[in-house]
Amino acid sequence: MNCETCGATLSLEDMTRPNCPYCQNVLKHHARAAEHAALVNKVLSDRIGAQYPGMPPGQMPQIGYGFGAPMNPGFQQFQEQQFQGAMKRAGWITAVSILVPIVLLLAIGGGMVLWMLVSR
Ligand SMILES: [Zn+2]
Repeated sequence: MNCETCGATLSLEDMTRPNCPYCQNVLKHHARAAEHAALVNKVLSDRIGAQYPGMPPGQMPQIGYGFGAPMNPGFQQFQEQQFQGAMKRAGWITAVSILVPIVLLLAIGGGMVLWMLVSR
């Protein structure tokens, strides 16, 4: 394949990079892939946004809040699975957010004790 901007012959390795190594322009197939990803993300976030009005885009939920009627039993089940997964994650995050400061405090405390013993 040749670069569509400067016509340079591109090796397979060159084509895995987003930019042409010769003219530094973004390669067309990478630009298209990026466009596709952006489009898919936009469609997804639009659909989720319609499902959960009032949600800030950065915090698209993984859990169902029971807005409106469920689309179908499968979707209901999907929501429940998502909800349970989210609850598990939330439990994890809570445990970590409690444990991490304790561990840090212990490490700092232990370090200070050690420092005091060594520097004496
Ligand atoms: Zn080029």
